Formats: sequence, structure tokens, C-alpha cells
Amino acid sequence: MQEKLDVKSLTITELKELLIGWGEQPFRAEQMFRWMHAAKVRSFDDMTNLPKQLRERLNSECRFTKLKEAERLVSEEDGTSKFLFCLNDGQAVESVLMKYRHGNSVCISSQVGCRMGCRFCASTIGGLVRNLTASELLEQVYEIERISEETVSNVVVMGTGEPMDNYDNLVRFIRLISAKEGKNLSVRSITVSTCGILEGIGRLSEEGLPITLALSLHAPNDRIRKELMPTASLHSISELLAACDAYYEKTSRRITYEYSLIQGVNDSVSCAKELSELLSGRNCHVNLIPVNPVKEREFRKSKQEAIQNFKNILEKNRINVTIRREMGSDINAACGQLRRSYRENDIRNGEEE
Ligand code: SAH
Repeated sequence: MQEKLDVKSLTITELKELLIGWGEQPFRAEQMFRWMHAAKVRSFDDMTNLPKQLRERLNSECRFTKLKEAERLVSEEDGTSKFLFCLNDGQAVESVLMKYRHGNSVCISSQVGCRMGCRFCASTIGGLVRNLTASELLEQVYEIERISEETVSNVVVMGTGEPMDNYDNLVRFIRLISAKEGKNLSVRSITVSTCGILEGIGRLSEEGLPITLALSLHAPNDRIRKELMPTASLHSISELLAACDAYYEKTSRRITYEYSLIQGVNDSVSCAKELSELLSGRNCHVNLIPVNPVKEREFRKSKQEAIQNFKNILEKNRINVTIRREMGSDINAACGQLRRSYRENDIRNGEEE
């Protein structure tokens, strides 16, 4: 059987082509787009200004992407909510809503699982299952808006998955969520984090989409980086920094360098000095993330004193640095662990049957 057409992943222009092919009026495309992306209705039947026979055809030939909430953890400390969403095919993804004074931010997943293999990351343990479609990326934001009745003003693509490994759907997602007829989110309010897919960084700089790019650096030199990240063997830090410099040149968007602090691995004074030298003279921002321990791995969070010391050394070298505020630390199972425990339960239940 042929896959049904995923209309929520289509641009207005593509919708127009589809509808014209069906013998419909082209203006129906914008109507449909507004229903899906601005009004965020839950079905084709809710698109009340479309003729009944068009709604019927949509129902029979097209897919209306929806996510189903399977679980929600809400922090008692700061209201951060972590959602586990079921997809059409029974897979699940995690998304997080963080409430800040300056607005609501949602962290979305870009893939089911991940194949990048970073040693300290839980999301990659079971490997990659599949890419998420543009509509599945969008629905993580839309469904959180529906459930929470809040407006999301920032999106960070920092959940499970490597966004650059799902490049076409990522770019499609950015164009759709920022479309003025839809959610109309400012492109500048979107951050995409990558483990360092060189080709993706280059392509993204040519898209005319001034999003914030975050590079997962995690080490001041290639030797340590290779211990932590298999992808470090593909591209050297100097190649990645050159690509980030070019991105900055093109977009004027300051790069964020992420650095997870792991006790005894990358948190020494000499690492801080080496990192300062590496980034010196760059208009960038370093985000220090005390590593979130993953039960399958032996990495430990750096001591508070080491974290502060690391930050001070960077600051002394005039590098713009923050320590990531730990949101919802009471529900802060490391990224990807909610999905993993859900799958383990699934597997256990399956075995019992
Ligand atoms: N694949 C992308 C985006 C997903 S991960 C990337 O690698 O950038 C988002 C960020 O969280 C990355 O910087 C990643 O290295 C980091 N991260 C993953 N697991 C972590 C953990 N256990 N503790 C702290 N940071 C972690």
C-alpha cells in the first residue's frame, strides 16, 4: 500500500500544486496551511471553510500527522515539563517545555534514536531508528502549545538525534514554522545543535536562514574529542571552527560552543586554558553543561568548584561563557532516558505476553 501523503510537511506552494492537480481553487492551499499551522486544528474535518468533498478526499488520501502524549513529567521546582510522544508507527520521542521569564522554549528531537555514538549520550545507545518528518518536528511544538495552552517563542533542536543527519526535513521544518501564514516563529528564535557534520554546517550557511548554530565541542583538542565522540575522527576541530567562522561571516549569528564538563576527562585547568586559546578572538558564546550521568556509562559530573574554575578561566580570557542552568533537575533524567525506559518496559511487557 502506498504511504499516504503527509500534507503537514508541505509548503503553501507545494499544497497549491497538489490542489490544482485535484481541480481545486489555488486559494484553498493557504486556507489549509492556516488551519494546520496557525489554528493548529486536530483533523481535516475541523477545516470548516473547505468544501465537504475536499475534506473527504483529504481524509482518504492524506495523512494528518498527530502525536499522542504517552507520558509527562512536570518539575515541581520550575514547571519544566518533559513529554514522551508516540508517533504514528508506535515509535516515541521526547520533547521538553522550559518556561523562562523571557518566554517559553521547547527542545525537540530530530530523529528516533541517533547514530552518532557520543560516549556520554543516552540517545545514541540503541542506534538510529529513523528520521523524523518535518510534520513530526512541527507537531512536537504544536502539541505542546495545545496541551499547555502556552505560546512557544523559542525552539531548540537539541533533543534526541543529529539534526544535520536529517538535513532536508530540518530545513523544511524551519521554513514551515517560520512561515508568516503559519506559526510565524522568528528564524532567529531557533537554535540547531550539531555534533559537527561539516557538510551540513556549510549547506546551512547558504540557506538564508539566520538561525543560531550550536556546535557540540566538548574538548579543547582532537585527542580528547576523539575519546568522547566518534564523529571527531571525521573532522578536526580546526576544520569545524573554520566552518563555524564561515557560518558567522554569512549569517552574522554568533556561534554557541557547547562543552559538557566531565570529571577528570575535560574539566582541568589546562583544558580551560587550551579552550580559551582555541576560541580567543572569536565572537562566540560557550555554554558549559555539567554532564548528565547516564546509567549505562561511567562518566561523572564535574565538581562544582571545577565548573566555576573552568568558567573563571574562560572569562579571564574574555570569552563569553555561561553555565547551563539546570532546568527541572528533579525530572532531569539524562536526555533520551525517558524514551529508553519506555522501550525497555515495552520489551519486557512484550516478553511476558
Ligand atoms: N546531536 C546534536 C544535538 C543533540 S544533543 C549534538 O550533538 O549537538 C544536545 C547537546 O547535549 C549536545 O551538545 C550533546 O553533546 C549534549 N549531551 C548529550 N548527552 C549529554 C549528557 N549526558 N550530559 C550533558 N550533555 C549531553
